[in-house]
Amino acid sequence: MDCIFCKIAAGQIPAKKVFEDGEIVAFRDINPVAPTHVLIIPREHIETINDLEPGHAAIVGRLHLAARELARQEGLAERGYRLVFNCGPEAGQAVFHIHLHLIGGRKLSWPPG
Ligand code: AMP
Repeated sequence: MDCIFCKIAAGQIPAKKVFEDGEIVAFRDINPVAPTHVLIIPREHIETINDLEPGHAAIVGRLHLAARELARQEGLAERGYRLVFNCGPEAGQAVFHIHLHLIGGRKLSWPPG
């Protein structure tokens, strides 16, 4: 399958991985928008949030638990951080393998652009 995030998960192309286990992989975004910008993905190829099914509840939960732990490791737990899934064209989704953005380390504005 020609999916860049599947290839990162499989170790076929390089990435700065910060966590991985049998189900999920986390790595630093190649074009960070903040001092901390980590992408947390399931190894399973799921194209968009629209494609989630009830059986994915546990893996989606695990993405968030990994984000919580990585935020703590990055020193963001008390400062604050943002977790984002972009879904579809108007949200600017560019890679069609779901990924949870963990963004922090600077003051983030709201609403997002
Ligand atoms: P999204 O707009 O939510 O689909 O975000 C895709 C993100 O993937 C962007 O922030 C990109 O900078 C990031 N990205 C694309 N290719 C790579 C890569 N090879 N390694 C790390 N991050 C990547």
